[in-house]
Amino acid sequence: LRSLLKDPSLLVEAAYLAGDWVEGDEGTFDVLNPARGDVIARVADLSRDQMALAIDKAYVAQKEWAAMTGKERANIMRKWYDLMMENQDDLGTILTAEQGKPLAEAKGEIAYGASFIEFFAEEAKRIYGETIPGHQRDKRITVIKQPIGVAASITPWNFPNAMITRKAAPALAAGCAFVGRPAKETPLSALVMGVLAERAGIPKGVFSILTSSRASDAGKEFCENPKVRKITFTGSTEVGRILLKQSAEQIKKCSMELGGNAPFIVFDDADLDAAVEGAIMCKFRNNGQTCVCANRIYVQDGVYDAFAEKLRVRVSQMKVGDGLEEGTDLGPLINADAITKVQEHIADAKAKGGKVILGGEAHEMEGTFFGPTIVTGATKEMLFSTEETFGPLAPLFRFDTVDDVIELANDTIFGLASYFYAKDLSRVYKVAEALEYGIVGVNTGIISTEVAPFGGVKQSGLGREGSHHGIEDYLEMKYICMSV
Ligand code: ADP
Repeated sequence: LRSLLKDPSLLVEAAYLAGDWVEGDEGTFDVLNPARGDVIARVADLSRDQMALAIDKAYVAQKEWAAMTGKERANIMRKWYDLMMENQDDLGTILTAEQGKPLAEAKGEIAYGASFIEFFAEEAKRIYGETIPGHQRDKRITVIKQPIGVAASITPWNFPNAMITRKAAPALAAGCAFVGRPAKETPLSALVMGVLAERAGIPKGVFSILTSSRASDAGKEFCENPKVRKITFTGSTEVGRILLKQSAEQIKKCSMELGGNAPFIVFDDADLDAAVEGAIMCKFRNNGQTCVCANRIYVQDGVYDAFAEKLRVRVSQMKVGDGLEEGTDLGPLINADAITKVQEHIADAKAKGGKVILGGEAHEMEGTFFGPTIVTGATKEMLFSTEETFGPLAPLFRFDTVDDVIELANDTIFGLASYFYAKDLSRVYKVAEALEYGIVGVNTGIISTEVAPFGGVKQSGLGREGSHHGIEDYLEMKYICMSV
């Protein structure tokens, strides 16, 4: 891997603990390339004591960082952004090597990840308070916003760069310090952010990447250490629930970006070709391994067969392969468990009357490759109607009326992203308002951007990331009542 990089010093195996590069007290753990299964790095495995040390140092460094002006913080963050973009190719290569997604997608993720740093660096200058007319003649009321303190983050492997910047950027812009534990599958993309943070001049202790193979240790330390005032997590609803329970003891502020079960609805007045393209972007990006991927595709009766056929033709042209090779559309899945889950969902659908019209089997390439799959005749009794598949399986459900599909789409504990294709204006409004989701894509399959608030309702989470709202999750409001 090192030999593929223009700047080999970007590939590091030591952890970035409060500005120092350290070995792990627990030794190392292996990082695999999911396309080949070989070990590409042995990364520092930190102990819980080392995490506590990082938090101690973050606690001290945060005060200094918060005392800087917004503009001073912004200037340093802007440098961090510039360094990411200057090294986009190398960062993309590292990301593909440990995560598997095609290189073009990986570079896209780096630009997306960097955009949060650019955006929130600008926001650092705009943390406005408020003055409120007093309630008595002698009273003057002022509201100021202050950083919460040390923010601790736990992130998943599917977006190893952007899930970190989406948290670290608003945290740092607000004047918080950040300690992050990346997923053990993808620590290299996190560590490189430490290298660039150091080069950008982010003060020691303000940003740490604490690699560890034991997620629950990190979770416990972050939730139980009183110096951590904010927990920010992206991952499954199950783990989110554990962290919320652990955080209850000290009433910690929590932001949670949890699981989804996105419906993608195609109405009979939709532009079918556009809907097929949207479904492909939405379903097969990152090989179906995103929390906003279409999980259930509902197609109105009159256009069902036409849509299924168009989708089958387009998806059958997609090329499965090593993400580092030119022309690859779909890389490997992250690991063998991911393959097992897709296979379970297909077997369950077949047993309940579903028909596989494309794929359905592990790909001829060895390892964790899987052919993109389409199942028709999907019903709500099948596993994928309640569980996220997190893989390249597109189930097509048939529906009759608008009311029917809204009921079906909302029949889930999740409420992150939803999508639909339609042209009739009153239908568009009605459906957009009726979907119980934090995000609705209308006639588009791609909704992620740093300028909009990303987040879910119901059991998909708490808080929003991105947009001017995103910084609020890292700020406390203080009301100052003055008698004059
Ligand atoms: P995913 O399906 O994306 O892997 P998880 O919720 O299992 O979702 O994992 C998201 C992140 O949470 C990963 O970095 C994982 O290591 C971490 N994690 C898993 N279990 C725990 C836990 N008990 N406490 C803290 N973090 C955890």
